[in-house]
Amino acid sequence: ADTFDDECDYLFKAILIGDSAVGKSNLLSRFSRDQFRLDSKPTIGVEFAYRNIKIGDKIIKVQIWDTAGQERFRAITSSYYRGARGALLVYDITRRRTFDNLAKWLKEIKELGGSDIVILLIGNKTDLVQAREVTEEEGHRLAEKEGLCFMETSALENLNVEGAFLQLITRIYEVAK
Ligand code: GDP
Ligand code: MG
Repeated sequence: ADTFDDECDYLFKAILIGDSAVGKSNLLSRFSRDQFRLDSKPTIGVEFAYRNIKIGDKIIKVQIWDTAGQERFRAITSSYYRGARGALLVYDITRRRTFDNLAKWLKEIKELGGSDIVILLIGNKTDLVQAREVTEEEGHRLAEKEGLCFMETSALENLNVEGAFLQLITRIYEVAK
């Protein structure tokens, strides 16, 4: 183990899932590097980022996995889900279809993820006020029905992004400790 790992108390894997172009990669780059991209960047293979978070006197290291566009082909493999303690399930508030597809994603998480995986539902792109197709109330209702946490974010304006990841990580920690 390297010294970095020796200095952390917990190491968790978390994953990003949801339809193509909902903003998953930009949420992650905001959280890990405070960057935003206007173009969508299709890459090959799985990407991930690390960040250390302090909760109380514990240092939590999270490894956050991002898809490399496989979701476009419904081709996310079981290894992506394996060992994940948390998931950010993202839809785009300006495209109802991405909200309607959440049922499919939830089914896949339940099949391929662990039974105690923490899921945070994210309605992204709140900056696009005029284009909104899914109300915040609808997001809340679905989250309540499925027993998920819920937040709306804007990766573009960096709104609630840090808060969303921190909420996910805190919940994972509470389940795991
Ligand atoms: P992914 O396919 O889910 O990883 O989505 P990306 O992160 O690649 O984003 C897809 C597109 O949506 C890109 O053009 C981004 O610039 C844009 N995008 C992502 N997040 C936001 C946001 O919060 N607001 C706006 N207006 N655009 C966003
Ligand atoms: Mg992406």
